[in-house]
Amino acid sequence: MTTHTDLSKYLVPPCTECKAKCCRYVAVEIDRPTCKHDYDTVRWYLLHKNVQVYVDHGKDWYVEFATDCEVLQPDYMCGDYEARPQICREHGWPVGSCEFFEDPCRHYFKGVKDFEAYLEKKGIDWRWKRRPKTEAG
Ligand code: SF4
Ligand code: SF4
Repeated sequence: MTTHTDLSKYLVPPCTECKAKCCRYVAVEIDRPTCKHDYDTVRWYLLHKNVQVYVDHGKDWYVEFATDCEVLQPDYMCGDYEARPQICREHGWPVGSCEFFEDPCRHYFKGVKDFEAYLEKKGIDWRWKRRPKTEAG
């Protein structure tokens, strides 16, 4: 992740230089997982292609879907600038606050193995106990 300390050369967010990082995913806040059911749900998210989970510097948890905005142009400009959603208008301001300048993640789980390793390192028992098989089942 690029870290730019000299903000003075940027009057506006450098979206073309950045290649539109923030137009290429959707992230939705989720509850911090605290029990086996929650851990299993996060594992389920992470078993899907192009789905990641991250924890930001405020310790909030998000599920992230890596998918380009449909109106993102090949030159990394917005194809519907006048009607872009409010979240797009606000992102990147003040200059220096967006992911071009600083990695927003405290933890980033690219896949289920990353998350399981994180839980193991914390000594968390996330596995369901399997019931012994019966004759019928
Ligand atoms: S607002 Fe920031 S992260 Fe988004 S495209 Fe512009 S420079 Fe990149
Ligand atoms: S609407 Fe425009 S600014 Fe918003 S995510 Fe799409 S391309 Fe980016």
